Amino acid sequence: MNDNSVESLVREDLADLKPYQSARRIGGKGNVFINANESPFNNVETADLNFDSINRYPEQQPQGLINAYADYAKVSSENIVCTRGADEAIELLIRTFCNVGRDSISYFGPSYGMYRISAKTCGIESIELQFNSNYSLPIDWKNETKSKLTFICNPNNPTGTLLSIKDIEKALVSNTFGLVVVDEAYIEFASEASVITLINAYPNLVVLRTLSKAFALAGLRCGFLIASKPITEQVLKVLAPYPISVPVEQIALKALSASGLAKVTTQVKIINDNKTKLENCIKRYSTCIYASSANFIYAEFADAENLWSILVNNEVIARQYAIERLANGIRFTIGSETENQFIIKLFEQKYSALTCPVKDKQ
Ligand code: PMP
Repeated sequence: MNDNSVESLVREDLADLKPYQSARRIGGKGNVFINANESPFNNVETADLNFDSINRYPEQQPQGLINAYADYAKVSSENIVCTRGADEAIELLIRTFCNVGRDSISYFGPSYGMYRISAKTCGIESIELQFNSNYSLPIDWKNETKSKLTFICNPNNPTGTLLSIKDIEKALVSNTFGLVVVDEAYIEFASEASVITLINAYPNLVVLRTLSKAFALAGLRCGFLIASKPITEQVLKVLAPYPISVPVEQIALKALSASGLAKVTTQVKIINDNKTKLENCIKRYSTCIYASSANFIYAEFADAENLWSILVNNEVIARQYAIERLANGIRFTIGSETENQFIIKLFEQKYSALTCPVKDKQ
């Protein structure tokens, strides 16, 4: 069989699929990687990992880990499904609830690209609903498209904008058809805005969480889906038999211990402080900057290409946006203190030579 005949075997609806352009897929030669919203910290100690039972399969859902996350999130363990990152949870929801050829998913956008791509790879239509111009939810939204799942990313990626609990509650009340999935991948940077406390009040609410961001464990691949028991029971039917490996369970448990959680609190504060410093700098040069409640800043520039060249020439890999509502935009993940200062210097010393600070122009 040659390569051409393999192409002819592939599902027709995947022929034009452009895979998700992850930071790793895009690559780039750099020193400062601020393109994937990862944590600059590395907290893992591997010294006391225990491999005594590595010859045996793990439980489908390691009970100790489920209980630890339930304690942290203040929900019951039957409300939790542990997954290989929030990405797997997105796909599981689509596979569990959407009938091919009949159902759709929706998401308020522009937002995280994997809602659309996961739907596409499952043969499910996706519909982008528009946030208001200030990235709030349209007040009259009632799930008119009758989507089985509506994704709301909060704080939103890539804008960092935050919706209030009240706004999301309105969406839960007015959507009488399908589930509302609130993607809280970045919620530890604005923890007061979490809707996790509504899980028991709304049987149509699903919350997604991850250890990839504030917990500094992107390489671990561990996330959580939190919802009412009737939802988690259905999702568990679709989940692979052994998704969470023994080392993942052990490292995640450490991250959720009292000392692990204390580290997260300290590091979130450091990242938020550094974000304020970078925001104060970027504000002076950008044409538009959104108030961010996450570990990154999204801003637009009159001459984004020139700024991008400065970043690339100085081995800084950020993330560029050039689509519709996100034209001329660059997203900067908050890196280490040193990296943050380096970016600020690039703005003040190199970019300012090209662009008069917006504030000074007025
Ligand atoms: N949701 C959002 C909004 C994200 O930005 C990301 C990662 N970039 C994910 C989910 C997936 O996270 P994980 O690493 O847990 O798969």
